[in-house]
Amino acid sequence: MIRLENVHKQYAAGRAALAEVDLEIARGEVFGIIGRSGAGKSTLVRLLNGLERPSGGRVLVDGTDLATLDGTGLRALRRRVGMIFQNFGLLSARTVFDNVALPLRIAGADAATIRARVPELLARVGLADYGARYPAQLSGGQKQRVGIARALATGPDILLCDEATSALDPETTRSILALIADLNRELGLTIVLITHEMEVVRQVCDRVAVLHAGRLVERGAVADIFLAPGTAETRALLHEDEAEATPIPFDGPVLRLTLRGDAVAAPVISRIARETGTDVAILDGRVGQFKDERFSQLTLGLSGGDTRAALAALHGLGAVAA
Ligand code: ADP
Repeated sequence: MIRLENVHKQYAAGRAALAEVDLEIARGEVFGIIGRSGAGKSTLVRLLNGLERPSGGRVLVDGTDLATLDGTGLRALRRRVGMIFQNFGLLSARTVFDNVALPLRIAGADAATIRARVPELLARVGLADYGARYPAQLSGGQKQRVGIARALATGPDILLCDEATSALDPETTRSILALIADLNRELGLTIVLITHEMEVVRQVCDRVAVLHAGRLVERGAVADIFLAPGTAETRALLHEDEAEATPIPFDGPVLRLTLRGDAVAAPVISRIARETGTDVAILDGRVGQFKDERFSQLTLGLSGGDTRAALAALHGLGAVAA
């Protein structure tokens, strides 16, 4: 649905904001783009909705090169590509109803259509009774719901979320992410989610790409990237909000075991310990859930018994030296 081919973007002399970016996002996917501040995330979003043009390469939506669009074509593109923002972007002097109606008015909808469509959109985001309020009377989460209703007004098939939960507390973030996941499932919306919050990607994205200094350094299924990051840049991003753990000195082999899906519930460690007589210490670990898969990742220290057999059994489960 979205394809970037060797995209470059250079604003001024010096380092390019984006360089050699190749990316494909499939219809119906929730795709995360992560990176530090200045990595080029916002630039990439502005290329996707035609607000910026690449200095080189091509940006295609449904096979159409956005560079070939004239004013009419760009307006049609923006009706197909909804967008929500970190700071919601609501007009403070207008009611919730009028904020949501705005894109319909711009698209030339008549009054009867607007009267019918806005309440539907507000109901869809859980704000059926809020049409007459003003943005200042709403919580952050409610403001973002208005932003989502407004983004859906023109019936887009792509929703771009630019740090859409970064101004919200964790509980509100979860409820907005649940709404975004519903829209993906129920309306088949393709969702591109730009964020510096790794938790957001872990909870809702199918695939993720990592931007670093304007380049895509890694991409893949969220579980694959989170459980086995392939670059130093990704590792740094994933672990920057964790305190540096002091490695526990351990006299014996140390392995990292990763289990996914149904394998999480299999009592493999106690079985291997029992069968080989080897004691197993858990030195580090995390257990959790991606969008549709559970995981556990444990650092194990082995001692005593038939250590060689225990190592072989753990290697057979995919464990690697840690
Ligand atoms: P991010 O969204 O990941 O923080 P941006 O896309 O905003 O990154 O910025 C990428 C790089 O491009 C940064 O070095 C930034 O300073 C530069 N940049 C972004 N927008 C502009 C602009 N309109 N003019 C000049 N430089 C810009």
